[in-house]
Amino acid sequence: MAISYLRVSVTDRCNFRCRYCMPEGKKEFIPHPEILRYEEIAEVVRVFSQFGVTSVRLTGGEPLVRKGLESLVYQLKEIDGIKEVSLTTNGFFLEEKAEALKEAGLNRVNVSLDTLNPEKFSYITRGGEEAFYRVLRGIEKARNVGLVPVKVNTVLIKGFNDSEIEDFVRFSANFGVEVRFIELMPVGGQFFSRENFIPISTVRELLEEKFGELQPVKTVKMGPAKSFRVGDTGAVVGFIPSVSQHFCSECNRVRLTSDGKLRLCLMSDREIDLKSVLRSPEGYSEEMLKKVIAGALLLKKNVNGIEALESLGCSRKMFTIGG
Ligand code: SAM
Ligand code: SF4
Repeated sequence: MAISYLRVSVTDRCNFRCRYCMPEGKKEFIPHPEILRYEEIAEVVRVFSQFGVTSVRLTGGEPLVRKGLESLVYQLKEIDGIKEVSLTTNGFFLEEKAEALKEAGLNRVNVSLDTLNPEKFSYITRGGEEAFYRVLRGIEKARNVGLVPVKVNTVLIKGFNDSEIEDFVRFSANFGVEVRFIELMPVGGQFFSRENFIPISTVRELLEEKFGELQPVKTVKMGPAKSFRVGDTGAVVGFIPSVSQHFCSECNRVRLTSDGKLRLCLMSDREIDLKSVLRSPEGYSEEMLKKVIAGALLLKKNVNGIEALESLGCSRKMFTIGG
């Protein structure tokens, strides 16, 4: 499959500490000088655009904790061939940032929200109940300034939010957002267990039982989610079965970590160091970066996520990769 989509983590820092993503009290992060500067990220994206990448998603850590993200958005949108720049955020800073991001050329946002209950929100993010209301205001603001379609990412956790599936359907209809249910992944942490894992099939069955057969929504397909209308509720939901159904053959993406490593597969620790090319003591050479990226993309054809998970494994935590 051709690689058209690049996920860029702009920082490993975050104002939350979601239990499935980051250890409590985490204070050690990648030192600032090791983090790619915006100009370096833009250069990597420019070279990737020559290999067919048309869509970039900014992620983290929390991308909006990094200052002046809108200037990166602007630089990326100036690159020939980059048609779409989007953002995955926890939504905490979205209310104040949405307008500037839209003006800089950001196309759309995905906001992570695992529960509609402020108390549970505070538990899972360790971010306090007030943060829940800020996230809701951020979602509304994003929609109002036209960062659409706004999608909400909801990680399914048994005993935590499986009782809220119908609430999320109502939320989708009322807020005019698509809710995408994501399977909890066993990535770099202790939170995942068989006991708290819910397969997507369970949610689908529940929705079909309650609302009848789900109606597929026609979309330009950029990723593994599939979108459906839920009866006549006005809600649109998506499913990301990242654990129960691997989608290596449909994978069109690679990832750039905030410290300049190219990851060919979320589930594989195989990384290619692009920062050392960007900061080569002999001076930066575009030709060299092109060669390294071309080699990496060839390798990508041969990476199988399931094999990687079993043999190499994924030792990085999610906040260092960006999901
Ligand atoms: N901070 C931003 C946010 O939360 O949206 C962007 C980075 S976060 C690492 C990207 C996505 O990864 C979020 O939607 C988050 O819910 C998801 N994520 C983190 N850890 C996960 C895990 N163990 N399983 C499934 N999804 C996970
Ligand atoms: Fe931060 Fe996002 Fe990880 Fe939560 S999921 S700790 S918001 S990076």
